[in-house]
Amino acid sequence: MSIAGNLAIVKRNIQLAQEKRKTLTGIDEPVNLIAVTKNHGIDEMEEAITAGATVVGENRVQEALAKYDHFQRQLEYHLLGHLQTNKVKQAVFLFDLIHSVDSLKLAEHISRAAVKIEKVQPILLEVNVAQEASKFGMKLDEVIPFLNEAADLPGISIQGLMTVAPHFEDPEATRPFFHSLYEKFLEVKALSWSNCMMKWLSMGMTNDYVVAVEEGANMVRVGTAIFGERDYAIELTRR
Ligand SMILES: *Cc1c(COP(=O)(O)O)cnc(C)c1O
Repeated sequence: MSIAGNLAIVKRNIQLAQEKRKTLTGIDEPVNLIAVTKNHGIDEMEEAITAGATVVGENRVQEALAKYDHFQRQLEYHLLGHLQTNKVKQAVFLFDLIHSVDSLKLAEHISRAAVKIEKVQPILLEVNVAQEASKFGMKLDEVIPFLNEAADLPGISIQGLMTVAPHFEDPEATRPFFHSLYEKFLEVKALSWSNCMMKWLSMGMTNDYVVAVEEGANMVRVGTAIFGERDYAIELTRR
């Protein structure tokens, strides 16, 4: 199957999940698809763009910069992976949305870098709903204390929550984790901080995006289902 064919299937599955959600809850919201291009090359990205992809997700700043060198602002770039403080400056230059903010220290670094270039950097808070030791992210009950602490930070716009669910053979098993984050999303949405608006709920990957949309995700991050398996031997870095 071609990248265009895969993309069409993913979009169709998202649409079916949206329809199911609408039938069950009455809620009908558009879903943004992030094409996760990490460890895929320029040619594959060209194919995806021709097929209509406009937003790409990357895990590493250097790799994303190499792609930016080629595509410039033709694409919207999202950072999905863990961000080290020594890469913050480049990340703030490049990314339209940073999904992986998981500490106040990182938010402070982003704030400073953004203020310096007169940008307001959109960010999401990464939540480790299942509290897996192998994953980044704050706990569910740390979200509101975080927002209280971050309320004074200039140069950032906190626009939602993100999670990576535990991996299960049966994606149904992810449902309670997505549901918990959706409830937190609603809880935060009802509160008010000047630099925070709950717009995006980023959850769902190749294995579980259908369940995530059914549970309220309005941003899904899909790589393998569009591009096939990643070849980790290929590593694009900036010249
Ligand atoms: C790699 C990655 C994805 C995409 O994963 P697939 O299973 O290939 O769809 C989504 N989100 C994050 C945070 C990732 O690191």
